Amino acid sequence: QLYNTLQDLRGNIRVFCRIRPMFNEEAKCTIDYIGNEGSLMVIDPLKAQNTRKIFQFNKVFGPTATQDEVYRDTQALIRSVMDGYNVCIFAYGQTGSGKTYTMCGPSNGSSKDIGINYMALNDLFQLSSIRKDVKYDIRVQMVEIYNEQVRDLLAEDASNTKLEIRSCSSNVWLSLPDATMHLVQSTADVLNLMKLGEKNRAFGSTAMNHRSSRSHSVLTVHVHGKDMSGSAIHSCLHLVDLAGSERVDKSEATGDRLKEAQHINKSLSCLGDVITALAQKNSHIPYRNSKLTQLLQNSLGGNAKMLMFAHVSPEADSYGETISTLKFAQRAS
Ligand code: ADP
Ligand code: MG
Repeated sequence: QLYNTLQDLRGNIRVFCRIRPMFNEEAKCTIDYIGNEGSLMVIDPLKAQNTRKIFQFNKVFGPTATQDEVYRDTQALIRSVMDGYNVCIFAYGQTGSGKTYTMCGPSNGSSKDIGINYMALNDLFQLSSIRKDVKYDIRVQMVEIYNEQVRDLLAEDASNTKLEIRSCSSNVWLSLPDATMHLVQSTADVLNLMKLGEKNRAFGSTAMNHRSSRSHSVLTVHVHGKDMSGSAIHSCLHLVDLAGSERVDKSEATGDRLKEAQHINKSLSCLGDVITALAQKNSHIPYRNSKLTQLLQNSLGGNAKMLMFAHVSPEADSYGETISTLKFAQRAS
């Protein structure tokens, strides 16, 4: 039986926009929004006042929105995983727009203002302890996709390498059978694993910040429930911190940087194509065109639910990227 968590979840795709606070008040871009109505208007800082662009999402969170407020509107979706729904949550936006802040928390590592990843797992632990009729197991995997290669972030040996995505249909919920799977029972377990993940992410990369903005990270929570009668559910929650969506200037990027940029462009545009095809209810969904969409295939479409956070930076010089992020997100809604 459902927890009535789905009553406010019309449709399977929703988009929230989040505007991060200003770091420098002087160089502000004009963005007006009505949070609960999800409408947003951006004015081109270089043109006259009447060049405005208007967007419509499910909700807009302004610069003062707290992590708790954001979680409150995400919670029903996350809880639906306990009822057997597959859920994907994406953080999209240019580097520095607040993707990691939303998913994990502040960059200074403060345990105040923790992000959706932790709040979600806490919530799932709590629900599983409340529900006496069902026995739940919660396990996690964490990988990064960098240059179209999938790497295990929770292996004890970080050099442990490239993972294959399973495409066969048995065990459809397990698309990465070889990625390390950890049983988690408490927030402390989760925090330890996140630390291991971060450490492994930095492995072999001199500039950790660079690497983390150039790869997608995917935290997958597997929920396995069994009730008294022996019937079982298995569902997945994917929490995805996407690579920065900014366009890299082709005249400046060369070698590795250019290769990274091309891989990111390709995989984000494949994700966009999949989401558009789902939103339009097309019969063909082009999952096969990128590792990310292959990996998430069983949790995108069908009964699965998706939430995209479109992150924007409020500075005037981000205007171009802001418009391109909002246009990308608009394709889903
Ligand atoms: P991204 O992951 O998109 O590159 P970050 O999440 O790292 O961006 O955010 C860039 C900086 O802004 C970090 O120092 C982060 O802590 C801070 N930040 C982002 N969003 C917020 C917010 N809503 N409130 C406070 N600080 C934020
Ligand atoms: Mg980040």
